[in-house]
Amino acid sequence: MSKKIAILGDIHSNIDALEVVLEDAREQGVEEYFCTGDIVGYNACPHECLEIIRSLGCPVVKGNHDHYVASQRNLDDFNPHAAAVVEWTRGQLTADELEYLHEMPFSVTKMGMTLVHSTMDRPESFGYVFDNQQAETNFTCQKTPVCFHGHTHCPMIYEKQLSGVYRIDPQDFDLKPGRKYFINVGSVGQPRDGDPRATYVIYDTAARRVSFRRLEYDIAAAQARVRAAGLPERLAERLAYGQ
Ligand code: ZN
Repeated sequence: MSKKIAILGDIHSNIDALEVVLEDAREQGVEEYFCTGDIVGYNACPHECLEIIRSLGCPVVKGNHDHYVASQRNLDDFNPHAAAVVEWTRGQLTADELEYLHEMPFSVTKMGMTLVHSTMDRPESFGYVFDNQQAETNFTCQKTPVCFHGHTHCPMIYEKQLSGVYRIDPQDFDLKPGRKYFINVGSVGQPRDGDPRATYVIYDTAARRVSFRRLEYDIAAAQARVRAAGLPERLAERLAYGQ
């Protein structure tokens, strides 16, 4: 039976973007949700975003921001703006919310598909996949034909054939039998591919078709929340540029 699944991640406490994405998913007939992590960080509404994602009852994997907020680790390897918001977010969340973030798994397999925030070779190290070689390393540890991920905030399809790994720009795309796919679903709350619109993916399980959705949302409202919370100005500005 055909089913439409919305795969979304890198929400980063951006409630304005998340609400628009979920409204679109409902209009598109989505019945299930998968979340590729980084619910919190960078923006000003961690509590609200966590509440919504938890209410979906969907599989969720742990992003690096979720991980750092939920632990008391030092933040030396984070950029200073990101670290400032991790510290701020720790102070915003309840003990129950911090526990929820802490308990999130690094990867999940459901309906024959895998979810991970970064890569399957070392999910807890949060390495970035920007090229075919990095994708190839992931494929050596990817057991299912399809794996969805995020982390770079740049949507992309990596296709593994016998002859190697190929990159396919985000588009409506039918997955081919006998090949493996590592699909970056982009970012709901802080896109970085030069397009500031919120991004997520709809996967139609019968047609085996992925569709990348790009949605306008109220960026000025999200920026105003960042400023009102006293978070770094750069984090408000970047939302307008998609970087
Ligand atoms: Zn992220």
